Amino acid sequence: MKKHNYSAGPCILPQEVFEKSAQAILNFNNSDLSILEISHRSKDFVAVMDEARALVLELLGLEGKGYQALFLAGGASLEFLMVPYNLMKIDGKAAYLDTGTWANNAIKEAKSFGETMVVASSKEQNYNHIPKDYTIPADASYFHCTSNNTIFGTQIKSFPNTNIPVVCDMSSDIFSRTLDFSKFDLIYAGAQKNMGPAGTTLVVVKEEILGKSGRNIPSMLDYEKHIKSESMYNTPPVFPVYASLLTLQWLKNLGGITAIEKINEAKATLLYNEIDRNPLFKGTAAVEDRSTMNATFLLNDESHAPIFDKMWKEAGISGLPGHRSVGGYRASMYNALPLESVQVLVDVMQTLEKNI
Ligand SMILES: *Cc1c(COP(=O)(O)O)cnc(C)c1O
Repeated sequence: MKKHNYSAGPCILPQEVFEKSAQAILNFNNSDLSILEISHRSKDFVAVMDEARALVLELLGLEGKGYQALFLAGGASLEFLMVPYNLMKIDGKAAYLDTGTWANNAIKEAKSFGETMVVASSKEQNYNHIPKDYTIPADASYFHCTSNNTIFGTQIKSFPNTNIPVVCDMSSDIFSRTLDFSKFDLIYAGAQKNMGPAGTTLVVVKEEILGKSGRNIPSMLDYEKHIKSESMYNTPPVFPVYASLLTLQWLKNLGGITAIEKINEAKATLLYNEIDRNPLFKGTAAVEDRSTMNATFLLNDESHAPIFDKMWKEAGISGLPGHRSVGGYRASMYNALPLESVQVLVDVMQTLEKNI
């Protein structure tokens, strides 16, 4: 039986995506060729890339608003440096909100390009909340934030208003909730958290913010070059892009982001209600900042861990241990995780309470 997969990433994808991907490896579009052996310049694959890029903009409500979608390689971690390379003016500075390990890694990369201001940080409290009281300098080249902190289980619910370009790492909550995406000038996301398999990174960028840094950018790191080549400057990650397209199609058929947001809220409410009700458990993130994607929680009494771990494994649950910097448990409830899987976890938590 298929596991209830709570892995933080790479993560669960819709079953139909696994099935259609498997089929395409054997025989893609009835071509009697595998998707793994065709040219990325073939008509069939160019159509995949075009549809994937268009569907991203459609689902985010950004069609016809001056944005371009790119499927790049190198992971979200490469965007940590591509962003300052492309956007930080040569003698300028950038503003960052430090809400977790990934935000911190982005800050480290930006520092080698110029003055990198951290407008606020929750590092001293082990990133258990989102700082809210800060000002963004009006002379920064851009403001960078992380919408969902995968490791610490916090999520930005309300984004600041500013006149400078807003850059957001949405790796672990892209396509999970409705937002006014036109408030962002550059969004990036590693596919493997909520969109597809590892190997490609989605970048959505408003074209008008590019070409202003005054830097000489190496071709592979230059967003404008990738846009000009329609996301095929070099061989793109063919298979991850195809599997991502299948996930985007699945999401569209389901009713888009509005529909999945309701399901995600139902899953998060079910689990957080149990964490708060059950005297054996406690959540680690500030309640108002809790992530709907990654729920982090602890056992109040560590000595119950061996029996709890045995119980959830026997219930067919996988991927529940927390990240080493938080400990305890992390339930990653990405788009493709069904509500039934959350019910299985809640049942195990209730059985543990009865047995102790
Ligand atoms: C996983 C993750 C990353 C790193 O992604 P890679 O594709 O492995 O580089 C960056 N940011 C966030 C928010 C993440 O969850």
